[in-house]
Amino acid sequence: MLTVKAFVFSPVQENTYVVYNEKNDCCVIDPGCYSGKERKELQNFIQENDLSPKYLLNTHCHLDHVFGNQYIHDQYGLLLHIHPEETRVLAYAPVSGTQWNLPFENYSGKLVYLNEGDVIRLGEDELKVLFTPGHSPGHICFYSEAEQIIISGDVLFRKSIGRTDLPGGDFETLMHSIREKLYMLPDYVKVYPGHGETTTIGYEKKHNPFVAIN
Ligand SMILES: [Zn+2]
Ligand SMILES: [Zn+2]
Repeated sequence: MLTVKAFVFSPVQENTYVVYNEKNDCCVIDPGCYSGKERKELQNFIQENDLSPKYLLNTHCHLDHVFGNQYIHDQYGLLLHIHPEETRVLAYAPVSGTQWNLPFENYSGKLVYLNEGDVIRLGEDELKVLFTPGHSPGHICFYSEAEQIIISGDVLFRKSIGRTDLPGGDFETLMHSIREKLYMLPDYVKVYPGHGETTTIGYEKKHNPFVAIN
């Protein structure tokens, strides 16, 4: 069984997720912790719940999702897992950091690449990688069929969608990802997005004004 803990971090208000099972194995997805206080909050949660971090994962590598990568790497010795197409987005993140007046230390360890259909295993529990480009070129989502949850990054939000005006973004590609990947999942699948509150696939099919079905 998987439990999802959400944190809202940084001036960008990004959702960082710790996903863990009853054996206390966990993965850290999109650690957006920026300040020392936020890093401490994440670390305290892991410590207080006696969790063993096994994976460091990014849905994509925009600034707000990568602030804490190096910290998690240093703290727990984890290598960053991303889609190959995000390598250049990650390399560009410090440049946007300077532009946004949010300088940070970028991840400098080795990269492990994830592709469509790969499976992240936490003991018996699995998160399947779905390739969902459009908001960024190598965006991926992490889906648990057993738990009916998806960590969706910046693809689909409650009654909204990810922006497509950033480098490597493309509106039609994003629509294709939502329709062909996310909307193919059962209606009751719970969506944990990169910003804002959780939603479900069924709710978005009914209420999302940006995605026309047909
Ligand atoms: Zn993004
Ligand atoms: Zn974001």
